Amino acid sequence: MHTSIYSRCPSCHQDGLVQHMQASYRCAVCNFDYVTLANNDAAMKAWMLENLRLGPMNVVFVLHLHQVILQLPAQESNARVLAFATQNGIRLPTGSPFSPLKIVAVVIGVFVVLFAVALFFAARR
Ligand SMILES: [Zn+2]
Repeated sequence: MHTSIYSRCPSCHQDGLVQHMQASYRCAVCNFDYVTLANNDAAMKAWMLENLRLGPMNVVFVLHLHQVILQLPAQESNARVLAFATQNGIRLPTGSPFSPLKIVAVVIGVFVVLFAVALFFAARR
């Protein structure tokens, strides 16, 4: 699955696209390789701290990048990020507001409403 990931880069501090190329995740602005954060705990934490504070969408990107950089199972990776956020007093939204299941549910909901409205008007003729 291809997804567009955005992050505030720890090197150039721009909010930029993160490009996935083979084994690396690179900042589209300065070419910084996010995978190098795996060997630099302090830089990793500073990057997480900055991005977790930017908003819910950035939290989703941090969760994803943390997992791919450290190559951890999703559950362990998420638990570590959440624990880190809690330690630093960052309140995260509970559950993922952008989970595919919720988006599908909303889309189906909209279609059901539109269908009901169409039936209602069709029945009045
Ligand atoms: Zn950069």
